[in-house]
This record gives sequence, C-alpha cells and structure tokens, in this order.
Amino acid sequence: MSDFKIEDILNELGVKAENSGTSTGQKNFGSGEVIESKSPVDGKLIAKVTTTTKEEYDEVIKTSQEAFKTWRMMPAPQRGEIVRQFGDKLREKKDALGKLVSYEMGKSLQEGWGEVQEMIDICDFAVGLSRQLYGLTMHSERPKHRMYEQWHPMGTVGIISAFNFPVAVWSWNTALAWACGDVCVWKPSEKTPITGVACQNIMAEVLKENNLPEGISCLINGGREIGEYMSNDGRIPLVSATGSTRMGREVGTAVAKRLGKSLLELGGNNAIIITENADLDATLVGAVFGAVGTAGQRCTSTRRLIIHESMYDEVKTKLKKAYSQLRIGDPLDMNNHVGPLIDTMAADMYEDAIKKAKEEGGTVLVEGGRLEGAGYESGCYVKPCIIEVESHYKIVCTETFAPILYIMKYKDLDEAIAIQNNVPQGLSSAIMTTNMRESERFLSAEGSDCGIANVNIGTSGAEIGGAFGGEKETGGGRESGSDAWKAYMRRQTNTINYSTEVPLAQGIKFDL
Ligand code: NAD
Repeated sequence: MSDFKIEDILNELGVKAENSGTSTGQKNFGSGEVIESKSPVDGKLIAKVTTTTKEEYDEVIKTSQEAFKTWRMMPAPQRGEIVRQFGDKLREKKDALGKLVSYEMGKSLQEGWGEVQEMIDICDFAVGLSRQLYGLTMHSERPKHRMYEQWHPMGTVGIISAFNFPVAVWSWNTALAWACGDVCVWKPSEKTPITGVACQNIMAEVLKENNLPEGISCLINGGREIGEYMSNDGRIPLVSATGSTRMGREVGTAVAKRLGKSLLELGGNNAIIITENADLDATLVGAVFGAVGTAGQRCTSTRRLIIHESMYDEVKTKLKKAYSQLRIGDPLDMNNHVGPLIDTMAADMYEDAIKKAKEEGGTVLVEGGRLEGAGYESGCYVKPCIIEVESHYKIVCTETFAPILYIMKYKDLDEAIAIQNNVPQGLSSAIMTTNMRESERFLSAEGSDCGIANVNIGTSGAEIGGAFGGEKETGGGRESGSDAWKAYMRRQTNTINYSTEVPLAQGIKFDL
C-alpha cells in the first residue's frame, strides 16, 4: 500500500477503535450488536460500530422531531449558512475523508476524494438554494383575491444509503433537506459504517459551534431491519433510499402502505450505443472507465455496449487492447486502475453472472476470474471481463454489481434504441456519435427512456447541478440539482381574500 496510515486518518476524523453507531449530534449511544468494518483493500479491521436498538431508534426519532420545531423556524438563508459551514469543514477534511472512503469502500483514491468534492459541491448548491425556495404566484378567478404557493419543510427525513457511494449520497440528501428545513436521520450501509461515523462527527462539530439542538443530524446503524423501522414509521414523512431494486421495492411498498413519500434511487443497467459515426478514441475512454471504474460498482457503471455492426470488430480489438493494459490492485496506489469489490460475496455474484452468461450462449472476449496471491489477500479482487452476448439474455437484463461488460451488435438506430430500452432498469444511457440526427433522435421522446441520457460522454458519473435518478425499476426518484429540492418540502396553496365579499370559486352562489 502507498504511504498511508489509517490510524492517522481515523484520528483526524474522530473515529475510535470502537464507536457509538447511534448519534443525535453531541449525544452518542448505541448498545446493539457490533459491526466490524473490514477493508476490502487488505481485509484488515478498520474499526467497530454498535448498531441501534429499537428503543434507541425511538429516542433518535423523538429527538429529531423536537429539533425540527427549532430548525423549521430558522430562516432558510440562515440554515444555508450552517450548510456553508459544513461544506467548509468538508474542505478541511477532504484529504482524510477521501482516504477513508477509499479504504473502507475500495474505490480509487481519486474517486474517494472526488466523492468528498461532490459533497462540497452539493453544499455550495444548497447554500444558493436556501435563498431560492421559490413558489409561484397565480391569478385568482375571484376579484380582490390573491393566490400563491409556498414550500414548507416536511419534518424528519429518513436516509438509507448504499455502500458504493458511502458519503456522497448522504450529503445529496442532507444538504438539500437541511436547507429546506428538514432534519435528517441516516442509516448508512452496514458495509461502510465507519465513513458514516466520520461524517456525523463533522456535522456534529458544526452544530455544536452554532449552539443548535440535538437531532438536526442523526445517525443510526445496522442492517435492513433498522431501515425497516424507518419505512414503517409514520413519524417519517419522507424516506429517501438508495440501493438495490429489491430493497427499493420493499421500502417503497412499506412507505406507500402508510401513504408516506419515498424517494428511490435504485439499480441501473446502463448502455452506450456506439454508432457508425462515433469518434472511437473518445468512445473508448468513456466506455472503459464506465465499465471498470469503481470496479463496476457504480449505479451508473457501463454494463452494455450496443455497437453498430460496421464498427463491431474494430471496437472489439480496441477494447481487448485497452483491457490488457488495466492494472488491478490496491486502489490507494494511484498507478492502479481497478480496485477490489466490496466483499467476497460480491465476488461470488460476479463469478455466478459470468457462468450464467456463458450458459446462455455468451462468448468471452476478455476472460474474468478472481485474483489470488500477494496484494489480493482480501479475496475481493477480480479481473474486469467482456462477454459477447445477445441483448435478450436474462443475465444481460440484470444488474450485476461488478466489472462485467456485455457487448452486442445492431444494424440500425431503431434497433439500438430498442435494445437500450429493453431492460427493466432506466438510469443512465449514452450515444457516441458525431451525427446530429442520431444524437437528437436518441434524446427525443422516442429515444432513450432513462433518467440520464448523454451524448459523447459515457454513462458513468454525473454532475450535481442536474437532477439525478432514473425511471422504471431505478425507482423514479430525483436527487441533487435542478428542482430535486421539491421532494424534501410540502407544497401549500394559499388564497387570500382582501375584499368585503365572499365569492365562491366556479361562480357558485350560496346566500344566507
Ligand atoms: P442494498 O439494497 O443491499 O442496500 C442498500 C441499503 O438498503 C443498505 O443500507 C441496507 O441496509 C438497506 N436495506 C436493505 N434492505 C432493506 C429493507 N428491506 N428495508 C430498508 N432498508 C433496507 O444495496 P447495496 O448493495 O448497498 O448497493 C448497491 C445497489 O445500490 C446497486 O443496485 C446500485 O445500482 C444501487 N445504487 C443506486 C444509486 C442511484 O442513485 N440510483 C446510487 C448508488 C447505488
């Protein structure tokens, strides 16, 4: 490993060997089972975290509800100022937090820092937003009446997050929710609890410095059962959940049953269409980074390449060459391109998917497999692989969270768009073309059915300025930029009568 001392990083972030996994700010507790977080980089124990019991969970929610009474009445720009301070603290801690993200999750150091940068960016966005929570003014049909709408905070927002973006997803939600006047309770992934403790410590410092009440930022820990407490809890008006489609279906159903709101950010099965008019050199960078970056563990990772038949052989040759140059190993070593999967179970799922693709008739172009020996002791390192397939294979229509790239041919753009859309997921998509007609068709109503559709950049990653999320089994939620903030507020329509009459709408007469 590079010159990296995890003890120093943990010290800087206030993480101990044993941590309370339940926190309302300054008050830290947690007496449930202990989670041991081990790094997929080298298999070593990072630190321990206690999980949250049901009683402790109830205490957290009560405290958050009390805090909401203060927070909701603080003017939004003042809440924005708190978010600004949080963003500044993240700037100070970017190096340490980025390294911890990288070590606990297994993504490259560049990506670990990038994730913290994303947190900083969304804070900046939310600060501006705190002065722009605009409602519309409408013209009333009744004389001397004024009608307008305003947006109010909702209350306690429950956040459930996945392991692959262990910190950014939390801040996408919290930075907006706090600016909107909500208080937040976060359950990080049980696979990355330490970054959760570190983030909570940072925000707790800001809240303490501003003498704000306990409960504005809360942390709970544990497995899916702790997430279920939130899904079933009528005190939580909004549950924002990021993770697998299986999880989203369970959370969405439970929240809908109590007529609450959910914001779901679920799995993707993202494709790039490479047309006969593509600039192949540019295409290759986007496609290879999309497929192998974060070891294929991004919701926006490129899983399918849909290639025009005239380009197919050339793309294959170039892909083979590019894959032969990939260096797999310690993600903290900047010379490596591909780090480990999150755990050995993920490596099992990767192997299983390759087996299924072969059974369905796939032909391997670049062989995969698990890596063993020096540097790969954690058992989580695998080789990125490429398999030639037909679009209808069951495994091709399934999201496997690993660096497996499926490639397939098409004849005309209609067919390519149909293949691209013909999967249950609808997150990210891209077309590589220098032909304006092709790109416009791809972006039109008869084009990509995804929440994200790109031209001449890959599917992987996104900027915080746009609304992020996808359709179909991706869950339909939108987070981050544009008007995604509206999900964290409730809309109220107000009609004010300043006349001496009481006219009814639609001209209805009612005389007493
Ligand atoms: P996961 O579904 O296993 O777990 C995600 C979170 O949900 C964890 O915190 C887990 O404890 C919790 N959870 C699981 N079942 C639950 C239930 N029934 N009720 C309440 N909470 C429950 O996902 P993962 O393996 O951590 O992450 C990978 C998945 O996340 C992939 O499918 C990926 O595409 C998706 N993802 C989507 C986005 C997006 O924005 N669309 C972003 C990141 C990850």
